[in-house]
Amino acid sequence: MSDIETNLKQLFSKIDELKPAFIERLTKAVAIPSVSSDETLRPKVVEMANFLQNELKNLGADDISIKELGIQPPPVNDSNLKLPPIVLSKFGSDPNKKTILIYGHYDVQPALLEDGWNSDPFVLIEKDNKLIGRGSTDDKGPVMGWLNSLQAHKELNIPLPVNIVFCFEGMEESGSIGLDKLIQKEAKSYFNNVNSVCISDNYWLGTKKPVLTYGLRGCNYYQLIIKGPGADLHSGIFGGIIHEPMTDLIKVMSTLVDINGNILIPGVNEMVAPVTEKEDELYKDIEFDVNELNLASGSNTAIYQDKKNILMHRWRYPSLSLHGIEGAFSGAGAKTVIPSKVIGKFSIRTVPDMDSEKLTKLVTDFCNAKFKDLGSPNEFKAELIHDGAYWVSDPFNDEFTSAKLATKKVWGIEPDLTREGGSIPITLTFEQELGANVLLLPMGKGDDGAHSINEKLDVPNYIEGTKTLTAYLHYYGATK
Ligand SMILES: [Zn+2]
Repeated sequence: MSDIETNLKQLFSKIDELKPAFIERLTKAVAIPSVSSDETLRPKVVEMANFLQNELKNLGADDISIKELGIQPPPVNDSNLKLPPIVLSKFGSDPNKKTILIYGHYDVQPALLEDGWNSDPFVLIEKDNKLIGRGSTDDKGPVMGWLNSLQAHKELNIPLPVNIVFCFEGMEESGSIGLDKLIQKEAKSYFNNVNSVCISDNYWLGTKKPVLTYGLRGCNYYQLIIKGPGADLHSGIFGGIIHEPMTDLIKVMSTLVDINGNILIPGVNEMVAPVTEKEDELYKDIEFDVNELNLASGSNTAIYQDKKNILMHRWRYPSLSLHGIEGAFSGAGAKTVIPSKVIGKFSIRTVPDMDSEKLTKLVTDFCNAKFKDLGSPNEFKAELIHDGAYWVSDPFNDEFTSAKLATKKVWGIEPDLTREGGSIPITLTFEQELGANVLLLPMGKGDDGAHSINEKLDVPNYIEGTKTLTAYLHYYGATK
């Protein structure tokens, strides 16, 4: 047996042995209601940062650095509200070893028993081989998983196969305020020499097969502002004799996308990178079918019935969704108002090789032309509210190859290579600022209910997941 396999054998049985201690660690973490969006709970978020600091110290960190981010910018109720700190830490600085930056977040989504939880969300319970509690899977479980791995190494006196730099933030569920700036600032100092970044903050596609994630879509969000009369009017008095902003808006919005999800703005689909043979191959083994989509959407409204089309349109093609109309009458009943100003909102999920600026020009030019065609005297403006870029990695690089080996070793099966339809904006920041590859190595299952009630992490995902993270460190550490 090679050194790696000997070490992993010992580490795995140590991890099994320490299972009760690991569950205890997660229980303590879940007990701290570190909800970043609730200003009154901010001291708890800070308490969670202190908890981590303490754990890192006990595990023998070579350095722990608490980065304060100052006052939280508006909108806030408390204008002196301090942002929770970013907890940085280092284990090892051997120039002959690779350095992995591990990112995780210690804040959680809000949770109240009244929301429909079957038990107190901040008391971790073990039931039917599941660990139920807020943050169990997002993201306290994975964060504890890394600490668990360090503990196993420490107790066995097995040296870490890589240098580790931790970056734990406390505002992920509230827009990661301050993180981008910190990464830029530390790129050449605390994060200097980082070869690779690993993030465990997403999920398996389904519930049976582990996955590695190599792509995320971006998002460009737009609004169309139409202004007409000086005030809201009564349709009994003004209906039929003035140009109504709402009618104009519906006309323009209806030209953006058809009912089968096809984007109708010329030039947009032309920017999409073609499917390569290698990529096409990746969809073959993935475990997924239309029933999973129907279950997730709670309906039979799928546009595509086959796995490949569903996944490709979720992951590697753009989509345009109409989200809402600000200023429109939206209550119950039959109000006869003519809104004087309405703002239509829609977004486009972006993919390689779409260029954000070019996309925005295509979108605004198209909307302006469609509005002009109406010949309406109302005022019209189309604009971008915000954009976040897509991310895609090479699923055959050293990081993914090592993670495949690790998954196979622990789960006895090749992981599916997946992408996600949504965004984790920080992925791209790490890649660009550090010039390092990023691997998304999820621990939890697709049905964990990350932002929902009764959030859970299966016990095997926590324990075998800890082993997977451990094996990844060793296989990646051995790459040249
Ligand atoms: Zn998360």
